[in-house]
Amino acid sequence: MTPERRTTRLAPSPTGDLHLGNVRSLLVGWALARRLGWNVVLRMEDLDGDRCRAEWEAVIIEGLRWLGIDWDGPERRQSDRIDHYASAMQPLSEAGLVFSCQRSRRELRAAAEALGAPHAGEGSTISTVAMRPTSPDRMGFTRRTGNHRLMVDPGPETVRDQLLGEREVDVSGRFGDPIVWTRRDTPSYQLAVVVDDLDQGVTDVVRASDLLPSAGLQQRITGLLGGDAPRWWHLPLLLDERGRRLAKRDGDLTLGRLRAEGARPEMIIGLLARTCEMQEDAGPMTADEFVGGLDPERLRGWAERDGSGHRDRLRASDYDLLRIHP
Ligand code: GLU
Repeated sequence: MTPERRTTRLAPSPTGDLHLGNVRSLLVGWALARRLGWNVVLRMEDLDGDRCRAEWEAVIIEGLRWLGIDWDGPERRQSDRIDHYASAMQPLSEAGLVFSCQRSRRELRAAAEALGAPHAGEGSTISTVAMRPTSPDRMGFTRRTGNHRLMVDPGPETVRDQLLGEREVDVSGRFGDPIVWTRRDTPSYQLAVVVDDLDQGVTDVVRASDLLPSAGLQQRITGLLGGDAPRWWHLPLLLDERGRRLAKRDGDLTLGRLRAEGARPEMIIGLLARTCEMQEDAGPMTADEFVGGLDPERLRGWAERDGSGHRDRLRASDYDLLRIHP
């Protein structure tokens, strides 16, 4: 038997330029793969029609190359594969797990209140088991007939994370019966990711820990599609000097801005290497040196410390280093 060729994916969304937090997750995933001899695929997750732009796709690809991050084979774009995701809906539909739902968020909140659902007062907009249709004509999947949801049964899903250990996710409590196909005739993020990861033979998903709950749902969907879930590696989130999550909308720590201010790839990588405890200071480092210095065991120690409340923060002095003035 040939041993499994492990594969990871870089899966940016072209909704804006990459910020330092995005860069760090992509860099660590790529470096882990290069260090351990895995395949790396690049996938543009561009299904959010209102927010995704082709120009950002080009900017992201160019930015990754500039940093020294590479991948194997041609890049894939989710929006090119809508028919493929629609085919993946069929077995779910035939198993009686898909129903159409045209409730607005306001109607979902009202339904939760009417049913006395546990989080109703908090304005929950999840579609619960009690809100499933009773009439058979709302069952099944037909394209271009609005939103469709997947029935997700209650009960915890154990996510075995390579860095964080075992985590229980209350998938139904968190996501309810999630939308898997949207009124725009596109799959939802959660469905598309699972279909692609199966199809591209992704064995290892490396990304930031804000997606840990999604791993629970994605694992469920994978099982319903008859596949094996990948190994998960959820990384700490990078925070700014005041402890806030970085966001693309802030604009200040995007790759484009850093480059415009004169930052070199080695400066950015060296700084990120310090934030993930690979070096004491932020001395310059090339992408290849980052690969050489990455120790998966130490990565675990770093991520676990984050799990116990430690968060990775940038320091005010980092802005001087990168010539950025917040
Ligand atoms: N496309 C997502 C993002 O850029 C990442 C999704 C994933 O890694 O599963 O946030």
